Amino acid sequence: MKKELSMKERAEGQKTSQARTRGLKGRIIRFCRERGVDLVGFAPVERWDDAGEVPLDFRPAAIWPMARTVIVMGLEMPLPMVETTPSVPHMEMYKTANIELDQLAYDLTRHLNRLGHASFFFPRDGFGSMRALREKNCAAFSHVMAAKYAGLGTIGASHCLLTPEFGPRVRFVSVFTSAEIPPDPVVEKDLCIKCATCAKCCPKKAIRMRADRIIGDYDDQACLEMAEELVARRCFPCGICTKVCPIGQDRGRYGQKGAIKKYLREAEILASHPDDPEYKSWTHLRKYGVPRGKSRRGERENAG
Ligand code: SF4
Ligand code: SF4
Repeated sequence: MKKELSMKERAEGQKTSQARTRGLKGRIIRFCRERGVDLVGFAPVERWDDAGEVPLDFRPAAIWPMARTVIVMGLEMPLPMVETTPSVPHMEMYKTANIELDQLAYDLTRHLNRLGHASFFFPRDGFGSMRALREKNCAAFSHVMAAKYAGLGTIGASHCLLTPEFGPRVRFVSVFTSAEIPPDPVVEKDLCIKCATCAKCCPKKAIRMRADRIIGDYDDQACLEMAEELVARRCFPCGICTKVCPIGQDRGRYGQKGAIKKYLREAEILASHPDDPEYKSWTHLRKYGVPRGKSRRGERENAG
């Protein structure tokens, strides 16, 4: 017959299990550091319920009921390459980051499984094609919301997650695990300063600032139209809203804190002077590696 645990024994059991999960968190952070992950955060699945912002079917516990913690990993998108967008080098970096994130999530999932913690990951991109995106412009799970609940940043006017380290120039992937891991605190103060640079520079005017809140109105069809044009030109994604955001310590590293004026004038100056020397290092990269005519439909459909 089972003996009931005394209060002291229960408290000791709790302490041991907390120490074990703290140890697991340390192991995961080490795994991430050794694999070159730039950001990592831990979100308990209850945060989705507490916040109530994400529809039920899109919450981790609905997607995979064993989930107790979501581990979010982020990789930096280096600013000088983002500044060349739309360009082939920018597209290649974007694709490399996505592949690398999926590999990291796959490896961490198997690492946790080997340690006895059942795990699962949601891949970086939840869209099979541009057509799928056009039909339903929403993924089954949001890494942006996961990164917010994992304490990596706050959502800005542009709907991107802004982080102190890289502003919005970072991409994320999420690993769900059955292990209960001590969470990271969420970032309480909004990082977005409502400067409206993202809205002013968006070539499709897809972002509209709101007076009553930080997060702007977002015209997903207009943004999608831009994506389709760039896929056809073989130099997607757009990412201008991530390029121009002034938030992020990466700007200081690249000596680009004062670049906002340059971004704001870019479209107008290049429309009348396509070879303006101030933008030459970017326009040079935009000119090469892309076909002059339209691509075939099949290429377009598969590129997203
Ligand atoms: S990705 Fe481009 S088109 Fe879409 S909102 Fe950002 S700047 Fe506008
Ligand atoms: S560009 Fe300005 S308004 Fe837009 S997200 Fe960044 S800080 Fe916010």
